[in-house]
Amino acid sequence: MKQKLLGMSPAELKEAAVRIGLKPYAGKQLAEWMYVRRVRSFEAMTNISKEGRAALADSYDLGTSDPVEVHVSSDGTKKYLFGFDGKSSIESVVIPDEDRRTLCVSSQSGCRMGCKFCMTGRQGFHGNLSAADILNQFLSVEESHELTNAVFMGMGEPLDNYDNVLRAIEVLTSDWGFAWSPKRVTLSTIGVLPNLKRFLDGSRCHIAVSLHNPFAEERASMMPVQKAWPASEILDLLRSYDFSGQRRVSFEYTMFAGFNDDKVHADALVRLLRGLECRVNLIRFHRIPDFPYDPSPLPVMEAFRDRLSRQGVTCTIRASRGEDIFAACGLLAGKHDKD
Ligand code: SF4
Repeated sequence: MKQKLLGMSPAELKEAAVRIGLKPYAGKQLAEWMYVRRVRSFEAMTNISKEGRAALADSYDLGTSDPVEVHVSSDGTKKYLFGFDGKSSIESVVIPDEDRRTLCVSSQSGCRMGCKFCMTGRQGFHGNLSAADILNQFLSVEESHELTNAVFMGMGEPLDNYDNVLRAIEVLTSDWGFAWSPKRVTLSTIGVLPNLKRFLDGSRCHIAVSLHNPFAEERASMMPVQKAWPASEILDLLRSYDFSGQRRVSFEYTMFAGFNDDKVHADALVRLLRGLECRVNLIRFHRIPDFPYDPSPLPVMEAFRDRLSRQGVTCTIRASRGEDIFAACGLLAGKHDKD
């Protein structure tokens, strides 16, 4: 299989160019074409000679690929499916909201974290995405040039594929790459503690932690990760960083009727988050088969939000998007045309 160029730094692209007899400056040209102009073929790189482009195409794969399916929701949300290994696929969602276009990015095909309420977790693990696979989602959606933000909240646990995710983020946020501010990128994690620390030290992007329950035993019953890295330890780590400036930390809290949506949970959540400048996003649960809980009714979610707000925790109810095309939270990999 040919080596993919997408995801390489200018220095690595220079090496790749020189290896096949091109001038060193071809590395800079490649970076410019791929990351600044965001072309999707060697033919489009018109300041590289015809012979040079042919040599590149003989030796390397650019790393771009077209989506194999696109679904459009009645609310404008768009779900893209990209092929992965011939058997499974990767899903990306573009969420339009006034002047924003947010890409919800996948970092793995499937997931090995096993959260009980998640369709991605239920399908098992098919593999880590390479940096090229991650960046292709940015380049190959129709809205590529309109994207304003990215959230690593698609399929997979990004901190379980740390090196590839960080490499993709480096391309997104470097001056030689997409030149996005780190403020435009949010990484969502269930709390893979050692890599969370590396991420907090190695990037300036926002972080969102999927909490879903303040009580250890209840959280563990839905999220096996709690046994390895308890939420209390995640909170202790986060408290040692400064989130009062540009960088934000938020907590995702999916609401299940009669499981995590009463006053006791709201008060315990306030206690757990004490001392941390943060926001809580309440997420409506989307029913999935063979799962015992229903979504919390909206008035219950509102009461929960108000109880948190009264105790000084900023809290919002996140609008649900793309449910009709199975693009909403927790539903990725829920339904494909080929099912
Ligand atoms: Fe994996 Fe996230 Fe689903 Fe948990 S919620 S199984 S970490 S994709």
